[in-house]
Amino acid sequence: MTHEEHASGPDRKAAALGDGTRAVRAGLPEPVKYEPTLPGPVFAAHFHLPGEPTGPYAYGRDENPTWTLLERAIGELEAPEEEGVETLVFASGMAAISAVLLSQLKSGDAVVLPTDGYQALPLLHEQLRAYGIEVRTAPTGGDGQLAVLEGARLLWIETPSNPGLDVCDIRRLVREAHAAGALVAVDNTLATPLGQRPLELGADFSVASDTKGMTGHGDVLLGHVSCRDPERAAEVRRWRKIVGAIPGPMEAWLAHRSLATLQLRIDRQCATALELARTLAGRADVTGLRYPGLPDDPSHAVAVRQMRRFGPVVSFELADRKRAERFLEELRLVDDATSFGGVRSTAERRGRWGGDAVAEGFIRFSVGAEDPEDLIADVLHALDAAGSTG
Ligand code: PLP
Repeated sequence: MTHEEHASGPDRKAAALGDGTRAVRAGLPEPVKYEPTLPGPVFAAHFHLPGEPTGPYAYGRDENPTWTLLERAIGELEAPEEEGVETLVFASGMAAISAVLLSQLKSGDAVVLPTDGYQALPLLHEQLRAYGIEVRTAPTGGDGQLAVLEGARLLWIETPSNPGLDVCDIRRLVREAHAAGALVAVDNTLATPLGQRPLELGADFSVASDTKGMTGHGDVLLGHVSCRDPERAAEVRRWRKIVGAIPGPMEAWLAHRSLATLQLRIDRQCATALELARTLAGRADVTGLRYPGLPDDPSHAVAVRQMRRFGPVVSFELADRKRAERFLEELRLVDDATSFGGVRSTAERRGRWGGDAVAEGFIRFSVGAEDPEDLIADVLHALDAAGSTG
């Protein structure tokens, strides 16, 4: 529960529903007698369409009723106080990211991206440059991207950044970017809309890989874009239609079902992540510990101004590659796997991919929904075992 929810008490109006209530009801249609509360997935490549070809449902690459409900649900979470925000779902987070970048930028434009964002972004740099777009990069921490904003068309923010967990001041970057005539998109994957709402902080686009915390079970690839301006939304929609980067109805339905437990999962994961971070802070064999929820973390002061929950990911360093690999082998309750935000804890030595500027012993740890005492005991055992091999 956030501070706001504690403070608001039991008498609040529907407009001020708590996150859990909103999550369980998000996107549900009006009840229909003998119909399920959440209708099942609609499998259709085409729909009956006699006469003039008007919507809402004509062809399966353009629209699908299962997406519509999910898009409504995500929109309610991204902007609960606002009418008219449009959400579009995609086949993956990268599909959503590419849709914004490639629908908004054209030859001769400049874009500002983070140096320390998700590791597939550099692949996009190559593609953007091939299209004649100037790519500028700067670090997330210290609002470093402000220094290279002049004349840019689009500012791309990822906060907290993955995997380094630096945080930038969204309101400040939006203010400066808008003054300079640039649009702002925020990759909100790590926080989810329960952790942070970029549109409310002024951003033009909130974008996420819903493969992570939003769906939370490690079994669905999905992404979304939420956007306030109908023209911008139409451009993103057009891009989706051209590229066809659409989710299957089954994935969309699984995602919608998973949203009902979003608050339960995220609250548990964030609470345990903080406890784990506190425990790791007391270990001499752990360095470079980062968690935005820790009061002495370099990101904390900015994070508390814009985040309502600090996310499930904790990062830290062990002495070297050997120690980190042994630590991962010794964990019994944590899968050595990439990705994050799922109900089962995962951890990995991030340097194994080669794309991030991290030390050989750097661990990205994603906290799941296990009992905190079990998880922390497992981590402590693995640290001790890794240390005893020297
Ligand atoms: N954005 C961030 C911050 C990520 O961590 C990831 C994946 O790890 C992505 C985007 C891409 O998402 P997807 O794998 O769903 O394409």
